Order: sequence, then C-alpha cells, then structure tokens
Amino acid sequence: MPTSNDMRKVLDIQDKNIVFEDNCVVQGHFKGKECKYIKGTLTYIPKECMKCHAPNVNYSVYRNGTQKSRITIPMSGVKPTYLLLKKQRFQCKECGATFTAKTPVVKENCFISHYVKANILNLASTAQSVKDISFQANVSSATTQRFINEEAKKYKPHYLQLPKHLSFDEFKYANSTLAFEYIDADKGTIIDILPSRDSRTIKDHFLNRFGLMARKKVQTITVDMNAGYISFIPELFPNAKIIIDRFHLVQLVNRSMNRTRVSIMNQFHTSNGEDMKKYRRLKRYWKKILKKASQLSYTKYKSYSMFGMRLESAIVDEMLGYDTLLKNTNEV
Ligand SMILES: [Zn+2]
Repeated sequence: MPTSNDMRKVLDIQDKNIVFEDNCVVQGHFKGKECKYIKGTLTYIPKECMKCHAPNVNYSVYRNGTQKSRITIPMSGVKPTYLLLKKQRFQCKECGATFTAKTPVVKENCFISHYVKANILNLASTAQSVKDISFQANVSSATTQRFINEEAKKYKPHYLQLPKHLSFDEFKYANSTLAFEYIDADKGTIIDILPSRDSRTIKDHFLNRFGLMARKKVQTITVDMNAGYISFIPELFPNAKIIIDRFHLVQLVNRSMNRTRVSIMNQFHTSNGEDMKKYRRLKRYWKKILKKASQLSYTKYKSYSMFGMRLESAIVDEMLGYDTLLKNTNEV
C-alpha cells in the first residue's frame, strides 16, 4: 500500500500534516453520483493558541476531538474525487478556546481545495465554456464563474496615469454589441476595454479612474472619424488634440470617389453604343480613377482593352472627361 508520502504526491498535496493510512481510498456516492473518497487526517502540534496566542507549553494546547470535512479535489481517474479530511480540534488551557487544525490545502470554511481552483484557472486559460470547465473540475458552474471572477479582479490593473498619446477604437463582440477600447498609441498596447461605447460608460470610466491631472497630460487622441465620442473628448481631456485616424480618412475619400463614379457610370447605362462604351470603361478601370495623379504613368504605352495602346494617364484623363462632376471629385 502507498505511504502517506506517495499519496500526497499523487494528490499534489504538500501539507505534511495530512497523513494517509492504508486502505484510505474508498468508493462511495455523492449527490447521486459514484465517487471516490480519500480519507486523510490532519494533525500537528500547534505552537500556540490560535485565539489568545499563548505558547503551547506542556500541552497547554491539547487535542480535543476531530472535525470531518469533505473537500473537492481534482479528479484522479474518471470519478469525482473528494478528500474526507479528519481535522484535529484543539483546546487551549489558558483561554479555554477551541479551534481546528489548519491546512493550506483549503481556505477556512471552504470545501473546495486550492488545487481545484488552480485547475479551474488552468482550464479557463484555454478557450472552454464555463459549463465544460465546471464539468471537468467537478464543481458547479456558479463556483467556476466565481473563481474566475475573483481571480480576474486581482489582475485588474490600476492605471492612475495615462500615456501622452491615446487611440480610441470600437469593435464588435459576441452578441454584436459594440465595445470600446483605448490603446497606448505609442506602444500599441490595449489599456482597457469597456463593454459598451455609449457616452455614459466612457465618461464615467475616465472620470472615476483618472484624475484631472492624469487626463490633462494626454496630448493626442486618435479616433475614428464617425465616433460619437468625439464631442466630449475636450471635456475629459482638456489638452488633447483629436486626430482622425488616417485609415478612416483614406477609406472615406475612396468610398465617396467610388460612389460618385458609380452614379455617373449608371447614367451611361443606356441603349446608346457610345454611352455603353463609357459605362464599361468606368466599370472596368475603377482602380485607375482612385490612383493618385502623380502615380499614373505618363511615359509607358500599354495595351488596355477597350482603349488600345495608350498611356495610363491618358485613359484616366479620357474617362474623367466624360463628366465634370467626376473630374472635379477626382481632383478634390
Ligand atoms: Zn488560548
């Protein structure tokens, strides 16, 4: 039979005060399910009374009965596993108080071992549902969620300072609502994510978390050009300049150029052969119209279908010549 030491190794229990005797593993039932019980005893000689802290001399703190508790531990094998721990109770001659032996395996008044918690957090680091994790760890979904929340709180950073350059962004998540995130624009690191991008949420967040001094230090904020929160940035960040994200600006310019081209192109969709030629050219060479004039070739003749051997700049000029609005829009 295994020694206490081996049992502790199997169960990842480091507390040497927990001892296991022969035949300590028994089959049983819990909550209508088959399970495995591992019987252990927790005992030691306390150095002092836990209540009055009087040192234990000549058995002034003496053993006085035991208390049993059932502790959930990570499954060993396929069945849920519980540690049936018989904990030593002590009484103090000095103050008369009684107390129970302690072990780092569990928190006081908690019946789920730290190892189960560690296991949950370990499983939570992989993409799994709370339901799956709770099934594997043999605890309820509510318990799993509570452990994850407790742990997440510990890691919530307390940023009292803000970087000089911020970038605001929004993104869709699971149920297609928009979340808000803000980024250190120099480092590219996400500082925080808010569950919603409505002005109330964003204002409250910055006002509650950062003092005016910290907010005044922000020099620039890069935002999407359509963002609703542009309006209250000056209120929150009195010294910040608002920068419209270059990407969004370029996107807007391209989009409006395309929209104009398509509406003009459609006007040429008639029974007239000349019009249809213009229509097809505008449809086919939409990318050329988006090109910067300085990037068009003015020297190289190439064969373009519907045009023949031409200069790139010449075909763009010809197409823009179909309509004044198209030409003006392109110039802008
Ligand atoms: Zn005492």
